[in-house]
Amino acid sequence: MPRYRLIVRGVVQGVGFRPFVKRLADRMGVRGSVCNTGDGVVIEVVTDVSGAQEFAAALHREKPPLAAIEECRIESVVAHGEVPDGFTIELSQPIPGAFTLVSPDIATCPDCLAEIRDRGNRRYRYAFTNCTNCGPRYTIIRQTPYDRANTTMAAFAMCNACAAEYADPADRRFHAEPAACAACGPSLSEPVEKTIAALMRGEVVAVKGLGGFQLACDALSTSACAKLRERKRRNRKPFAVMMRDPATAERYCELGEGERALLQSRAAPIVLLQMRERGVFPDALAPGLGHVGVMLPCTPLHHLLLDGPLACLVMTSGNITEEPIVIDNDEATAKLAPLADRFLLHNRDIFMRADDSVTRWYEGAPRMIRRARGYAPEAIDLGFETGGALGVGAELKNTFCLTKGHYAIVSQHIGDFENLETQQFFEETLRNLKSVYHAEPQVLAHDLHPDYLSTRWALAQPLPKIAVQHHHAHIAACMAENGIREPVIGVAWDGTGYGTDGAVWGGEFLVCDYSGFERAAHLRYVPLIGGDRAAREGWRMAAAHLYDAFGPAYPTAAEPIRGLASPAWWKTFDQLLTRPAPQTSSCGRLFDAVSALTGICPQSSFEGEGAMLLEAAAAGCDYDDAYPFAICEDGAPWTIDTRPTIRAIAAERATGHHPNRIASTFHGTLGHMIKTLSVKLRDKTGLNKVCLSGGSFQNATLLSHVLPMLRNEGFDVFLHSRVPANDGGISLGQAVIAATFLRRT
Ligand code: ZN
Ligand code: ZN
Ligand code: FE
Repeated sequence: MPRYRLIVRGVVQGVGFRPFVKRLADRMGVRGSVCNTGDGVVIEVVTDVSGAQEFAAALHREKPPLAAIEECRIESVVAHGEVPDGFTIELSQPIPGAFTLVSPDIATCPDCLAEIRDRGNRRYRYAFTNCTNCGPRYTIIRQTPYDRANTTMAAFAMCNACAAEYADPADRRFHAEPAACAACGPSLSEPVEKTIAALMRGEVVAVKGLGGFQLACDALSTSACAKLRERKRRNRKPFAVMMRDPATAERYCELGEGERALLQSRAAPIVLLQMRERGVFPDALAPGLGHVGVMLPCTPLHHLLLDGPLACLVMTSGNITEEPIVIDNDEATAKLAPLADRFLLHNRDIFMRADDSVTRWYEGAPRMIRRARGYAPEAIDLGFETGGALGVGAELKNTFCLTKGHYAIVSQHIGDFENLETQQFFEETLRNLKSVYHAEPQVLAHDLHPDYLSTRWALAQPLPKIAVQHHHAHIAACMAENGIREPVIGVAWDGTGYGTDGAVWGGEFLVCDYSGFERAAHLRYVPLIGGDRAAREGWRMAAAHLYDAFGPAYPTAAEPIRGLASPAWWKTFDQLLTRPAPQTSSCGRLFDAVSALTGICPQSSFEGEGAMLLEAAAAGCDYDDAYPFAICEDGAPWTIDTRPTIRAIAAERATGHHPNRIASTFHGTLGHMIKTLSVKLRDKTGLNKVCLSGGSFQNATLLSHVLPMLRNEGFDVFLHSRVPANDGGISLGQAVIAATFLRRT
């Protein structure tokens, strides 16, 4: 009897693939075996060639919901040994240098949820219930192949009942590697009821979650939220809320079909939702904002916490401000003690830390804001062989990106690369992803900014390296995830990125592809007064823009913001302007200026708050107006003159226009700027594809102005979906540019 081998690659481990193959073979009456290798899944079948092809077709047709088959190769094998009796699942065989895709963590499935709610079930209220369709994956896998022995579940020996399920092809837990029960699996440090009682008393509890510790408190308690905010010293960044179920989310927030599906998806991310009315949550939860980040329970433990009397819990990353999320019990009890009144621990180790992902639903797709649990380390198919490149990412919202074969693997959100702890997190994650993907980069790409710690880290590595301009990387990332290989018009608008002329760029129009870029146009330069402080103190940028717009006559226009700075500061302001100051074309800083000028956000407590509050103010008022602006086409690059815009805003402010209306018109103006420039650049270059990237394009109000305008002009417009538009997407662009460089050399 002939034998054939089917080599299946893709997301085929940790998703119930081998049990599925076994059931399929039994049903089709095919003898043979299946096993995981470091390279995917290998199936041997005793059958003729048409039988093997039929089997492959059935694999594609009936594969488990979480599986993704990228490739299924059929090879004939020389028969050896006896013909097997039936169909068996064999022990995994590691293949050195091989490559398989690792599954992200998957939220509790409906079957497991039903079990933990069923008094008669042996897993009733068991906090670590999972099956082949759900449960921890990336955060517990130490190395591939994906077997229990290679996960942090290795410490727990299965009891007889669990072992029987694991061995039973008819069972939902057949070969479910992390399966466990109360008799044999991980356990909690205290009964969930005690934690719930503490939360009801208004205490802050540090909960060991899936990818790290979370700080929880009653989301409807003003004092609990205020206490948590004060302890976290978290300025005004909003907290996320975990809600019991979609019905609860709908009670407090607007919930469309897309938002609902995203909340209930297997990644179970935080989704930004519009509040039904402001004031339903304590002000300390999301100060000044009309939207709130909501997620549903993603593990049985979270379901148990929310199945009681509390339907809404704040769930924020358990970390010291600016440090990575804490994963270790001892580290947690030491570091989080000042923040938490109480701990809910367990004894299953977290191997890879991963924060909760943050998303927004926009135009039929999820948009990543922070990509971590539930999404990492999903690979992005680039459609070309990459060699092997590493993009080390930007300074803030850092991620890195490895390429291997035709895949790009973007790490989970690492954080702001500004302390040793974050650098260690970066290094441990890089080590892990290199190991599980057997990836050895040949070339390394870093930001052009010489002082980014990620750049300094890169420069110390013994590999060929290339510097990639920040906004070029933004657009390349947008191209890569949209599968674009030819030149595009790239609009890269954000807060800050080091330019080739040493200025702080951030309102850029590029004509580019993966091999290079031309800076075609940018927002007019203004002095960046106060350096980094300009990002927090919007009045500095307002003063700079007013001086730019009015010249020596600026003091009258600056009247509304005069009180924000000391008289002494204003005295020195003139001198500041005569000194050489760094120049900036930043869109983010323009947002800060307008936010301060309108009184909406004179002072930010984190970068981007000015823009967020301006967006919140503009939301809901639909004016089609725009302020004037000019385009200066002498020389290259062209510039967008924002002085007429600033003059108009100052005039409206002086005549008592409502700030919300100014905010809305300002968004419309930016839309017109982008449209006008895109048309001019199309006339010049013949290009019709426009890629929008950079943190400014997380602003849904800006998108809602820009997109219809561009589409009315017939442009093909591309946005981010799989990686963030913010600096979390930079590493993908860097890696693709580096991989292209490698191909050409
Ligand atoms: Zn399940
Ligand atoms: Zn058990
Ligand atoms: Fe950026």
